[in-house]
Amino acid sequence: MAEKIGNDEVRYFIVAFKYGECGWDWPKVAIGLSKVDINWTNSSRSETDKIKMCQYNVYRTTDDHIHAESHFLDSLRNITSEKDKKIIHINAELVQNYSPCSECARKFVEFIQEIKKKRIIFSLTIKFANFYKCYYTLENDSWKRSSPSKECLDGLVKLRQNGVTLQLLQGEQDWEKFVRDERFVEISEKNRTRLLEMATSDERKEREKVDKIILKYIETEALSKPKTTK
Ligand SMILES: [Zn+2]
Repeated sequence: MAEKIGNDEVRYFIVAFKYGECGWDWPKVAIGLSKVDINWTNSSRSETDKIKMCQYNVYRTTDDHIHAESHFLDSLRNITSEKDKKIIHINAELVQNYSPCSECARKFVEFIQEIKKKRIIFSLTIKFANFYKCYYTLENDSWKRSSPSKECLDGLVKLRQNGVTLQLLQGEQDWEKFVRDERFVEISEKNRTRLLEMATSDERKEREKVDKIILKYIETEALSKPKTTK
């Protein structure tokens, strides 16, 4: 069973401000909750003899500034390099407090290229609660971005173009499910109520509206720009 996150780390998901505002309230680390389904056969057996495995893990940015996503990719690499397994299919879901930064996006794309060469079918969904380094203002129902966010947005566009599904962790249903997910979250009932109130506050709801517009922008860019794998 996976290690779990408690009250403080659940808080890292629930930020109500725009990125860069109220800096004290923005977590310094990324947390990724992963569910990985793997289908494999023993190298010596026939492909019809499939074995299924499901792993739950919590990844965190470490003191040496290695991001949670990097640790996640390292563990996937370990699985795919085990000599006795012939991996057929990997289906991974990551739930994160932040969207991946441009460097992590590049690492994901690199991994996707690697795994294609190994002929492993791979699908990845990243669901995140906050855009990382996305500075924006909302004007007349559309958002204006300023230059610091460009790299991070481009990284997310690249992920989309390489088949990664991006989703937002937002709305009452999502948050309810999140704080009640016993595979990953361990909090008291009192804290759960308090955290749910924060996650569904008016301020956070306003922020989530803008996040939706940004995600739509990313989807459109991914379709209109030439595909990049670097
Ligand atoms: Zn990163």
